[in-house]
Amino acid sequence: MAMAVETLQEKAHIIFDTLVEHYGEPVFQGCDDPVDELIATILSANTNDANSGRAFEQLKARFGDDWDAVRTAPLDAIKEAIRPAGMYNQKAPAIVATLERIKADRGAYDLNHLAQASADEALAYLTSLPGVGHKTASIVILFCFNGAAFPVDTHIQRISQRIGINSRRASAEKIKRTWESLLPPSMFFPLHINLIRHGRRICQALVPRCDQCPLQSICDYYQQSGEWSGQG
Ligand code: SF4
Repeated sequence: MAMAVETLQEKAHIIFDTLVEHYGEPVFQGCDDPVDELIATILSANTNDANSGRAFEQLKARFGDDWDAVRTAPLDAIKEAIRPAGMYNQKAPAIVATLERIKADRGAYDLNHLAQASADEALAYLTSLPGVGHKTASIVILFCFNGAAFPVDTHIQRISQRIGINSRRASAEKIKRTWESLLPPSMFFPLHINLIRHGRRICQALVPRCDQCPLQSICDYYQQSGEWSGQG
């Protein structure tokens, strides 16, 4: 049965509360190093966590913790190390160009100054780096600094469209802006983690498990399907 929801903001809060009730409230723990997080996130584009994680481990095993060694290495050696992540012909030069920019701008491989920047300033700087889009930048801002950026991956995009936070055709960047306008930044980290959990376990891409979903009563997809048929 549909729940009467007056505003999109109210809906966003219900989603947050319901997912916390269902999955618990993830606690922000920070990242080890923002440059590591940035390079790992560049590697994660268009592949799964296992493959990008293996590529990052191989990069570290081959070059150690010395980003200078990566920046000055032959491109083929970097491509070989990051091969498990796929798209290594694009990702290797993007990593080198990004490291070159950070070194030139900061004199070291250090992004900790972004902890003092506003989310918009941090986003503007990070997206000015070669090969860094809004999603990668938002991940670094949220996961390293608990900043006011809401990264939207494929799970969050799909759930936001189905549930009616955005339209079915909304871009990831539009969805990011919508969530950022609806909830306070302190909710971004736990919501981001819980939406991904929900996308993996229940609101799956091909056939969502609506019969197990605690968000049925406020989900446009479910409500518009009437008596949900189970056919996705
Ligand atoms: S009711 Fe179905 S479509 Fe809606 S959020 Fe839940 S699983 Fe996804």
